[in-house]
Amino acid sequence: MLFLDKLSILAKKAEHENKAFFKNIRPGKANELDKIFHLKNTEVFSHTDCLECAHCCKTLGPRLSERDIRQLSKALNIKASKFEEQYLRIDEDGDYVFKTMPCPFLGSDNYCSVYKYRPKACSDYPHTHQPEILRKSKITIKNSFTCPAVYEIIEEVKKSWK
Ligand code: SF4
Ligand code: SF4
Repeated sequence: MLFLDKLSILAKKAEHENKAFFKNIRPGKANELDKIFHLKNTEVFSHTDCLECAHCCKTLGPRLSERDIRQLSKALNIKASKFEEQYLRIDEDGDYVFKTMPCPFLGSDNYCSVYKYRPKACSDYPHTHQPEILRKSKITIKNSFTCPAVYEIIEEVKKSWK
């Protein structure tokens, strides 16, 4: 169930507790934390319909690598330089990001029109299925403000953690 209207309030309310939760986990427990995160990630995404949400594609832009740019321009049958000119800008960190948000490839039905060729940052998001969650705790808490699934995963992990 999505609760985008309340997400920022809920995430803000949980932020302090979430920071304390991660802070209290010893590095030796990092693998155990990954296991619980991956389990809860599977459970939560089994009842989360990203097509009803698309909040990440509407509000967060991915960083695009040279490889992403090559892949997308090839898929769109245009030169990489043309793709950059049309869709990209360089942000304050020197990374390529989309000029406009919501993402120019997001349809009104929330489908990604370049799904097969989407940037790696898109396919990796929200990273809760990946290793080293403890090391990525800051970004995971940050993502709980954007992604309802991440908020829910953290809540479920806290309940299961002994
Ligand atoms: S490229 Fe596709 S997956 Fe990535 S932000 Fe745009 S619409 Fe979303
Ligand atoms: S914000 Fe989370 S739940 Fe929403 S579309 Fe993105 S990954 Fe799916």
